[in-house]
Amino acid sequence: MQSDLVFPVSSTASYPLLGWLFCACGERFCQWGSPDSTREYLSVCGCRLRPIDADAIERRVRAEAALAAPTLAGRWSADPIEVLTRLYSRIEVGGTVADVRFVARE
Ligand SMILES: [Zn+2]
Repeated sequence: MQSDLVFPVSSTASYPLLGWLFCACGERFCQWGSPDSTREYLSVCGCRLRPIDADAIERRVRAEAALAAPTLAGRWSADPIEVLTRLYSRIEVGGTVADVRFVARE
């Protein structure tokens, strides 16, 4: 089941992982790309050569949340920030989108 998320363009909700997404080195990711092009997350530390595709990482996080808390994850479409807030304190991305470490909220 792959339902793509639809977010209002050019609002902070377009990048729900801002504030949660960190590079493995500790650098915070920021939003990248413009509303009429591909959404991406980028860290400025230089660990990665290319930005992360926003849809790819958000799908990965959403899938992880669905495993951890299926009922809560069902609210992702309505309010991804609430889901993130209740589950995770930070999400660290290594070399690839598949290499993600979820730090649970204490
Ligand atoms: Zn880094």
